[in-house]
Amino acid sequence: MDAELCRLIESFAGSGGNLLVVTGEGVSEECGVASFRADPRPFIYRGKSYEARELMTWALFDQAPDVVWAWHLLRLAEARRGQPGLVHQAAARAAETLGPRLKVITECVDGLHRRCQHPAAGLFEPQGNLFFMHCAAGCTPALHPVPEALQGRTAQQPLTADELALLRCPACGGLTRPHILWRDESYDEPLHSVNSILETARRSELLVMAGFSGHTNLANKVAWEITHNHRARIVDINPEPNPVAALARRTGGLAFNTPPSVLLPQVLETFVAAAG
Ligand SMILES: [Zn+2]
Repeated sequence: MDAELCRLIESFAGSGGNLLVVTGEGVSEECGVASFRADPRPFIYRGKSYEARELMTWALFDQAPDVVWAWHLLRLAEARRGQPGLVHQAAARAAETLGPRLKVITECVDGLHRRCQHPAAGLFEPQGNLFFMHCAAGCTPALHPVPEALQGRTAQQPLTADELALLRCPACGGLTRPHILWRDESYDEPLHSVNSILETARRSELLVMAGFSGHTNLANKVAWEITHNHRARIVDINPEPNPVAALARRTGGLAFNTPPSVLLPQVLETFVAAAG
């Protein structure tokens, strides 16, 4: 590993600082799961073509909830075919050892960290998770698993009445919606942990951004929040250009054009070893 990076990690780990890791869509792409936010494929439903950007909106859900649900179920089936990779495994192992000193925020919605048994207390999924749904009317912020019978649905055929009946809120009987932050809504605390995430950023001294796509605002905000602490540093790991690389370099941190699966496990192992 790069000597400067090694010194930086050992210094923060040895001095008791908290580590914050953001995993972006680049991490999922390494596991065979395509970008959720930048899906270029049209979705054909009842002979009409929809773009991903309109399928992630309240505006369309209000008019045609079955179209929105059918597309999210298709994306869920794709996410299920992906398998957690080296990054998810290394993060889960490090979380077991470091406890509250490590927090992971993922901009991905494919649930790969959870499927790798990442401790729930150390994981934030502010964009949501395709494997869950919640009440569309908001009777409670409780999350419910998407019924198993719908998780393997890969056809673009219209949802049947029986399938729609499975998507009812267990609390009030109304329709549920996918647990995904849509483009025409904003982060809140009950469903997206926005306040907890920003508070975590303020308490962290080292931020590692891995495979960040640049498509989500909160991860950008977390990076800027970190820079308010003059002792804190950012390490960006990403073979793709992204807005955080320049910010990291400008504020005394480091940026590497390396796949996250190559470098992030080493970073975590070094931190764990130096944290003693
Ligand atoms: Zn309800």
